[in-house]
Amino acid sequence: MMYITKKMIEIRNLLQKVGQSSSVTLPSIVVIGSQSSGKSSVLEAIVGHEFLPKGSNMITRRPIELTLVNDPEARADYGEFPDLGLTKVTDFSMIQKTLTELNLSVPESECVTDDPIRLTIHSPRIPDLSLIDLPGYIQVAGENQPRELKRKISELCDKYIRGPNIILAISAADTDLANSTALQASRRVDPRGERTIGVITKMDLVEPEKGYAILSDRQYPLRLGYVGVISKLPAQTGLFRRETGNLLAGINRNEKAYFNSHLPEFGPDAGVNTGTITLRKKLMQVLEQQMSSRLQETTEAIQRELEETTYQFKVQYNEQPMSAEAYLAASLDEFKHQFHDFASSFGRAQLQGLLKDALDQKVLDQLAARYWNRPIEDLSVAPHEPDSIADLPKADPNSPYWHRQLDTATSALTRLGVGRLAATVAASAVQSNIDKLLDKSSFAKHPSARKVVSEAASTVLADRSYATSDGIEISLKPYKFDPDIQPQEWAQGREHVVGLLQTELEQCQAAMKSLENSVGGKKKLKEVMGFVDKAKKGEIIVEGDHPSGAGGFSAALLTRGREAVFLRDRADIINMRILAAKSRKCKSLENKYYCPEVFLDAVATKLAQTAVLFLNVEMLNDFYVRFPREVEAKLHEHMAAGGLERFAREDPKVRRHLDLIHRKELLELVLAKIDELHRFDGAGGVGKGLA
Ligand code: GDP
Repeated sequence: MMYITKKMIEIRNLLQKVGQSSSVTLPSIVVIGSQSSGKSSVLEAIVGHEFLPKGSNMITRRPIELTLVNDPEARADYGEFPDLGLTKVTDFSMIQKTLTELNLSVPESECVTDDPIRLTIHSPRIPDLSLIDLPGYIQVAGENQPRELKRKISELCDKYIRGPNIILAISAADTDLANSTALQASRRVDPRGERTIGVITKMDLVEPEKGYAILSDRQYPLRLGYVGVISKLPAQTGLFRRETGNLLAGINRNEKAYFNSHLPEFGPDAGVNTGTITLRKKLMQVLEQQMSSRLQETTEAIQRELEETTYQFKVQYNEQPMSAEAYLAASLDEFKHQFHDFASSFGRAQLQGLLKDALDQKVLDQLAARYWNRPIEDLSVAPHEPDSIADLPKADPNSPYWHRQLDTATSALTRLGVGRLAATVAASAVQSNIDKLLDKSSFAKHPSARKVVSEAASTVLADRSYATSDGIEISLKPYKFDPDIQPQEWAQGREHVVGLLQTELEQCQAAMKSLENSVGGKKKLKEVMGFVDKAKKGEIIVEGDHPSGAGGFSAALLTRGREAVFLRDRADIINMRILAAKSRKCKSLENKYYCPEVFLDAVATKLAQTAVLFLNVEMLNDFYVRFPREVEAKLHEHMAAGGLERFAREDPKVRRHLDLIHRKELLELVLAKIDELHRFDGAGGVGKGLA
């Protein structure tokens, strides 16, 4: 008998996971009763432990699906919360605390919810039972309880007391049975009293004759009958409660003492059922019978469900298997493939291009600072300094001034920290490429895993960054003293820098255009520029930056005018320098003091070329080898402890696919278990049922 119930409860719990239609389920015992009817005390007496949330204001807000497992092997009684991953909790006050917390996690505004708490208790002293404890019915909503609480509790109970569940209707002996909310509710769904067990608590609180009258009551006949219990220990024997597993023993002793002292009413000949032990036996028997009687119907429903699921699997997924592991492996493979493509297209040449671009900007900065800048406000060029625009081409190449300018610019370029710049440029280029690959990969649908992969890239890159930049600096050392430009390098620099200057010129022109648009046209801008020019030359005296402007122009307009004048002058200089670089004079390396642009460009190229040799080996190749390994390791870590399943399920398509397979497997497993049960039972009890 025991084995069959145990197996059927296992099957029931598996079916709970399948969810959906109520026909695909096996019955459980649903415990209902008014608040203070003694419901908790009865349940605790059955289990033999105090474990339910207590306290005057403590209302059960969630159903507790309680599975009792008779476990002859268990050395100590213990509870488990499968949904929380809490296992082997031997301290029942901890179970009580956990239940209280889970209960309180339901917000007050929601009152109660039908999201059950699953709790399994193992003990060699308990029968195999499946019980559901529901919130107690309340008579009037208390001051602090929301008004609809009463209705919500009642609705929740109604949901659970539907067939084929067995109803354990708890009523206290000291209240009128006609007013028992539990019996009223049960009668609504089970009018013939076929699946309701009546439990009368607090038998000690009424006269034995009255107790007898209640238990043998014919007014509300129940086919499964009534059982009278005393689930409370007398105060002086309260210490029983502290001793694990002895609660029931104490209660049993107490009940026996009471009922045996009133033999005419409760003795063997009285024809009424009393005692928690009797109740437990009844529950086992009724549950087993009810489950058995439902088994055939349930099996057929499962078979239909399985057929439908199998069909869906075929039409929707072409029977293609799917698992979280396989999905991760496929995602990783796809990503590695894309990474491989990237790795073979991104090497030394690409790095050099990027680094040269970054250095070009530095070259332009140097040129602007040392050759082009003529602060507009400061018109008083020091007499000993040549006018950089007009005089440079004509300047004496032997003048120490121009020598110093170029030497300082070159030295600033070679000493600007090319190592750090190169490492940063390379790392951020690789990183942004990896991020782009990720955006196109299936990791895009999994933000947390995407982050893991992206961070794996930064870790590997950062790891090599310091050593790489250091190594580059060492390799560039000779150039800090003598860049040693060759004629061929000069020629290339000349060609490149003309293009660079042209781009810079275009940018100046574009900025000018947008200034024109912002002031309302070319003509307007010209007018302001004319005014600014005159002011600069001292033809007009403008006293300070008047907030309301000057010369009929607003302050904002004047600012634009000054910007425009700056851009015009900058464009003039660049134009002139393009002509200079193209001129015959700049053809030859000897004239480097005439052609600082060409020289600096050639130096920048040399720096980039040398730096890249190091960068390629130390950073890029190292990255290509280590990154895939790092990704695997980090993803593996990330996927531990349920992460893999969570990862796969983030993709709705995969989730549906997995759900269907899971459902199919679960249904198959249940059918196999039912089959096992039939084989064990032979032609025996299973399927005979209550009727
Ligand atoms: P619940 O609100 O329905 O869960 O009721 P409880 O189990 O918390 O019991 C309510 C009160 O009745 C508690 O103070 C219990 O100690 C007391 N009680 C429960 N069963 C009995 C019983 O059989 N006899 C007596 N005298 N008191 C009981």
